[in-house]
Amino acid sequence: MGSQLTLALSKGRIFEETLPLLEEAGIRVTEDPEKSRKLILATSDPDVRVIIVRASDVPTYVQYGAADFGVAGKDVLHEHGGEGLYQPIDLHIAKCRVSVAVSAGFDYENAVRQGARLRVATKYTETARQHFASKGVHVDLIKLYGSMELAPLVGLADAIVDLVSTGSTLRANNLVEVEHIMDISSRLVVNQAALKLKRERLQPILAAFERASLSKA
Ligand code: ATP
Ligand code: MG
Repeated sequence: MGSQLTLALSKGRIFEETLPLLEEAGIRVTEDPEKSRKLILATSDPDVRVIIVRASDVPTYVQYGAADFGVAGKDVLHEHGGEGLYQPIDLHIAKCRVSVAVSAGFDYENAVRQGARLRVATKYTETARQHFASKGVHVDLIKLYGSMELAPLVGLADAIVDLVSTGSTLRANNLVEVEHIMDISSRLVVNQAALKLKRERLQPILAAFERASLSKA
């Protein structure tokens, strides 16, 4: 048990993009989370298992040591705060950005210049709070859990703070990106105690992840 390693991943793009990194470490995941309802997946290494959790829950599992390590977006880590987590490697996967977007007809620059109080809908309340505070813009934040693009279209908010990659979801909903807050990629996060106690088992995997991710930098 002492040398068992648990890796926390979320289903979808992070799982898919982490598989090649695991393979670089000689580890194959032997079950497909899209096909099975299992939340604990075995790997070709009897000492390594993968748990499937919500993307925004990965830091929490790792922080409390329920997982020794995990993969999470910088967006998620920034909201979480990173407490109890060692963040050694930028994996250069799941790249996108966090931006402010508004309805095509809304004059954002003018509203900001006039010192208007903005209603901003987002899942990223901490990131948004910091961003607008640093600009000296007063905002009322409205916490949402998904489909942020809808909020300006139905009058819930003046602006949203959300992830953008190609911009096609914004375009499809007649929204425009008006401010870029931060570039996002996924990071490897490691529980600080596990890093010390399981260093021997973790170290070769971290080295392989680092090698594999350098080629994407
Ligand atoms: P859930 O579906 O459980 O609410 P989620 O939508 O955050 O979670 P994903 O869509 O799998 O889950 O996103 C996981 C991470 O991948 C995000 O935290 C972000 O870092 C990154 N990401 C999200 N959308 C994109 C995208 N369109 N392109 C590239 N990376 C993305
Ligand atoms: Mg998503």
